[in-house]
Amino acid sequence: MAITIEKNLLKEWESVIGLEIHVQLNTKSKLFSGASTNFGAEPNTQACNIDLGLPGVLPVLNKEVLKMAVKFGLAINASINSPTNFARKNYFYPDLPKGYQISQLDSPIVEGGSVDIISKEESKNIRITRAHLEEDAGKSLHEDYEGMTGVDLNRAGTPLLEIVSEPDIRSAEEAVSYLKKIHSIVRYLDISDGNMSEGSMRCDANVSVRKKGDTNLGTRTEIKNVNSFRFVEKAINYEIKRQIGLILNGQEIKQDTILYDSSKDETRPMRSKEFANDYRYFPEPDLLPVIIENSFIDKVKTEMPELLEDKRIRFINVFELSDYDADVLVANRDIANYFENVVEITKEPKLSANWIMGDLSAFLNKENLEINESKVSFENLANLILRILDSTISGKIAKEIFEIMWESGNDPNMIIEEKGLKQVTDSSEIEQLVDKAFMENPQQLADLKSGKDKLFGFFVGQIMKVSKGKASPVQVNKILKEKLEK
Ligand code: ADP
Ligand code: MG
Repeated sequence: MAITIEKNLLKEWESVIGLEIHVQLNTKSKLFSGASTNFGAEPNTQACNIDLGLPGVLPVLNKEVLKMAVKFGLAINASINSPTNFARKNYFYPDLPKGYQISQLDSPIVEGGSVDIISKEESKNIRITRAHLEEDAGKSLHEDYEGMTGVDLNRAGTPLLEIVSEPDIRSAEEAVSYLKKIHSIVRYLDISDGNMSEGSMRCDANVSVRKKGDTNLGTRTEIKNVNSFRFVEKAINYEIKRQIGLILNGQEIKQDTILYDSSKDETRPMRSKEFANDYRYFPEPDLLPVIIENSFIDKVKTEMPELLEDKRIRFINVFELSDYDADVLVANRDIANYFENVVEITKEPKLSANWIMGDLSAFLNKENLEINESKVSFENLANLILRILDSTISGKIAKEIFEIMWESGNDPNMIIEEKGLKQVTDSSEIEQLVDKAFMENPQQLADLKSGKDKLFGFFVGQIMKVSKGKASPVQVNKILKEKLEK
């Protein structure tokens, strides 16, 4: 149900938001066991004794996970805690057979740091409280069995990095901007695929409201597990209005945990904080505190990839791209790589950017493919661009060839050869075409000569048509002019 509050009243309020983002780290094996983390396997084929917490087993920390967390910490200018400690977070849930989750409470691996986001076209800093490691729980499958719930433990023990922000966010748009920033950082670092629909990145949004000018924080609610950028925005906007509505009605906000129902676009309480879980955290007795040596951090530093912001600046400086082009290309690391590979061959950044942001993106979008799944390789696109640059083909024919390349996966040079699509630049051939067009359209020619300049375009069109688009438009224009001046 939509909530309506008068615009003037809304203006007096401010929202305060803090996000807890769970990022699934893309290690091959789990946080404390050697079981595989592949997505989509048959239920319960990827959970070993350690993931199930059978008596007598011991967790063994996956070092790769530490490296990934440190990478993230370095990317946001945070401190890396050493020693960093693991703790047991106890609760009962059918998809948590151990009855506890190994997580971190005191001395999380990453503490402090911040990221910049764009809000209302200005840069704004969002502080990060901490990022800690924890293992994921299994999954309850409510839809698959009539009247029963299935439990799939493949996900149990998968490494998560939980990134907790300070309550610095002031609107749903800023929350999305922040979430996208974190998404981009983990993708650039290649520590997660960030796939929200598969649950590799999940977000809890803590929301409160207060009168503008107030410095105290209002009571917050926590919207659980929102799984797309769009829903994060909608859920927060709904919750802000719901809270303001309640307060205007003289009611109090209860510190509830709530669910967002995207099909109805509304939030509803899941459990109240009065029944809040007391997790009875205690230090994990099976894992020693972990010392992170400076030499380890230094080694990770040398392996840090170039991050989005640096790449953006380099694209503008080195390739002389516009801010807009650079923004679009670096938003996805794989697209940025593809672009660099194309430019290395063509040496023409602007034209290469246009092709990637134009035709290639359109074809990818149409078939819902990622750039890594593109049916046109970077070599083939670069070769096509080279043929435009050396005037073998016109830009228009290039579009037709691109479509054939997409369908066949073939090299453009081969397609040009096979289909006889080479541009006609030979002037004697074009002169013949011009003469023929003059002869076949005497009336139009007379009118053009007596001052109807518009007919110039008519003749260009005729000649292009007769040549099936293969005549070089530059040459056609030039020769037409020469003949008319005679
Ligand atoms: P918990 O562990 O119970 O969820 P935390 O204190 O760790 O609580 O806070 C979790 C998140 O809630 C953080 O992102 C924090 O910024 C945010 N937060 C805390 N207080 C508020 C508030 N009054 N309004 C909005 N967000 C808040
Ligand atoms: Mg929380």
